[in-house]
Amino acid sequence: QAKHSGRETTAVFDEQLALQYERSVMVDTGLRQALQDDEVYVAYQPQIDLRDGSVVGVEALVRWHSAKLGRITPSEFIPIAERSQVIESIGLFVLNTALRDIGRLNRRLNQQLHLSVNVSSRQFWHSQFLLHLHHQLNTEGFPANLLTLELTESLAMENPERASLVMRAIQSAGIGLSIDDFGTGYSSLAYLKALPFDTLKIDRSFVKDIGVKDDDEAICKAVISLADTLGKRTIAEGVELQQQADFLTQQQCHFAQGFLYSQALAIDELEAFVAERTAS
Ligand code: C2E
Ligand code: MG
Ligand code: MG
Ligand code: MG
Repeated sequence: QAKHSGRETTAVFDEQLALQYERSVMVDTGLRQALQDDEVYVAYQPQIDLRDGSVVGVEALVRWHSAKLGRITPSEFIPIAERSQVIESIGLFVLNTALRDIGRLNRRLNQQLHLSVNVSSRQFWHSQFLLHLHHQLNTEGFPANLLTLELTESLAMENPERASLVMRAIQSAGIGLSIDDFGTGYSSLAYLKALPFDTLKIDRSFVKDIGVKDDDEAICKAVISLADTLGKRTIAEGVELQQQADFLTQQQCHFAQGFLYSQALAIDELEAFVAERTAS
């Protein structure tokens, strides 16, 4: 009996693995074509200064609307793209598009919005990464000091010494660095202290339970005070409720982004959002 059910479990498990694999192959091949077919685009989520509610910048977030597979979230396709070289094409596409879009928006509205772009591991460790960055900034005439790259702590921990060198080179070009999803990885504080960056991004998982769980409030407080001690700024992600914004403001977190303010917007929607906010 036991043997029998064991075999059944294995069969179900294998089937799931096979389906998962099939889907990842579809996503991977679909992505290559999607870039050519203009199915991939960039949306922008506003970032808010908690002191006065003004829009200070945006985070570029990649979107894929597939004719064949429907909408696919970056949480699904980025990890798949990371396993092949297609992530490099996506990374370049997002950087190019975002620099052009936000550069244009800043000129049209006479603004100085910051742009944050997520960088994947493969992109970051690519030997030509810095060269590409310089080239793209020059081509678009985008001021380096308005660009911030978001790296995850796990990326930096893959090789802290080398990451530190690359990060220093990025900073010396005037480009900002922020540590994304902070608190969800396994970086030691000793390494964190040695890493050159400007901003800590408090992960949504901690923001979510502000007002619900005492220990998550304690974690937010601790991250803000840690950042403060290290002379860094903080931005909270996934802010959905006024109560969360109030708590973060009270703890002197600098910036916030989340559905309370806005979802990620198409570039023309973003322009309307910024125009309206700066007029009032
Ligand atoms: P992330 O960089 O931590 O981005 C924040 C994610 O939280 C985004 O999901 C955003 O839409 C979502 N979010 C923002 N505010 C709220 C909120 O108030 N409530 C909730 N529930 N969610 C909120 P998205 O766009 O699905 O992206 C997921 C992840 O995919 C990103 O996490 C990032 O790691 C990756 N990603 C997105 N775009 C890119 C890209 O262009 N390049 C790379 N390498 N990774 C990207
Ligand atoms: Mg991010
Ligand atoms: Mg994040
Ligand atoms: Mg996150």
